[in-house]
Amino acid sequence: MQTAAPTTPSGTPSVDLGPAAGLSCRECGERFPLGPIFACAHCFGPLEVAYDLPAGDPEQLRKRIESGPASIWRYAPLLPVPADVADKPNLNPGWTPLVKADNLARELGVTGGLYVKDDSGNPTHSFKDRVVAQALEAARAFGFTTLSCSSTGNLAGAVGAAAARAGLRSCVFIPHDLEQGKVVMAAVYGGDLVGIEGTYDDVNRFCSELIGDPLGEGWGFVNVNLRPYYAEGSKTLAYEICEQLGWRLPDQIVVPIASGSQLTKIDKGLRELIALGLVEDRPYKIFGAQAEGCSPVSAAFKAGHDVVRPQKPDTIAKSLAIGNPADGPYVLDIARRTGGAVEDVDDARIVDAIKLLARTEGIFAETAGGVTVGVTRKLIETGALDPALTTVVLNTGDGLKTLDAVAPTTGPTTTIRPSLDAFRDAGLAH
Ligand SMILES: *Cc1c(COP(=O)(O)O)cnc(C)c1O
Ligand SMILES: [Zn+2]
Repeated sequence: MQTAAPTTPSGTPSVDLGPAAGLSCRECGERFPLGPIFACAHCFGPLEVAYDLPAGDPEQLRKRIESGPASIWRYAPLLPVPADVADKPNLNPGWTPLVKADNLARELGVTGGLYVKDDSGNPTHSFKDRVVAQALEAARAFGFTTLSCSSTGNLAGAVGAAAARAGLRSCVFIPHDLEQGKVVMAAVYGGDLVGIEGTYDDVNRFCSELIGDPLGEGWGFVNVNLRPYYAEGSKTLAYEICEQLGWRLPDQIVVPIASGSQLTKIDKGLRELIALGLVEDRPYKIFGAQAEGCSPVSAAFKAGHDVVRPQKPDTIAKSLAIGNPADGPYVLDIARRTGGAVEDVDDARIVDAIKLLARTEGIFAETAGGVTVGVTRKLIETGALDPALTTVVLNTGDGLKTLDAVAPTTGPTTTIRPSLDAFRDAGLAH
């Protein structure tokens, strides 16, 4: 039997995004139907996805998740996606390793258990595949034919690849001066790539104008008009960390900050697991990590401010170089509420930390991973992070994307003629 599909105020037919029940304003709480909107019509506050989460026996839900696919889709009952999401063409990201980092722990003096959640192995080698996969489902549900974004680099590649797999067109926007690795990765999937002469914040402003213009009609910008859905993908980091710890909350977690979205949704994910009875309700602390050359949230945290004053970024950690982070105030709330902190490290310490992680654990992180490891070390030095507690540090991207950061200080130990005499003279045989 056919019934007329109910429509949203914008005229889009009602959509199946699984347990997502609507959008709610993070400032005033006003509810809206699911649609490609991102700001509250009453107070202009940011919107987020509200759910009808599965009620009932936590043990059953845990079993259902554990028997699901080895990707983020094992958590489909907690995400704004249709139940059959895993059967649609997509990159199936997630379920990345939680590495017990005993060698790094020894170097940093952590005794309570140190883990690296290593997201470098995602399909396009950064955590961005998690968020883009949610935005892709929203784009399909709302009938968009072009997938787009403003990007500091990793997002452009993730959108290009996801669109290619899904058979959608993509057109992505980046600052013109990004690392070569990120430009190549953004271009290779065959979508359109536009370099903008300006900073990321200029790119973002440009994209907001494009959305309001007929030029951008039919375009789903994953981090603008699809942002409420996109952002939910970061919850999967929280889910995976807890499941991989044996359905247990970590005591402390160190998260990089660009716009701050990831950090706020990791907190949301942890709170959901508690509410659903999937983990025991215990205190946890969330720490934010920035590069000194782009540290607006860290500066506000240290000054005791509630507002974040924008900065002009100048750091090698380009994936985190957002000078005016949209979720900055929410990050401040979460760091303060959980008893965490926001800290920053300079570029030299970022490079040292990349090498430290590579040398101790065999994990080659991009600059964002250098930021989290460097900040972890600094937080231990300042006493803000307790080395006797279980700590998870995020590595959100692959070092092959930011070779420029370490290339000047990394190279062969020596170069010799192909002879045993030359090798003996080099003094490397023990
Ligand atoms: C985008 C990104 C982040 C976090 O971004 P948010 O905007 O704070 O969610 C972290 N690490 C890497 C490598 C990224 O590309
Ligand atoms: Zn509102």
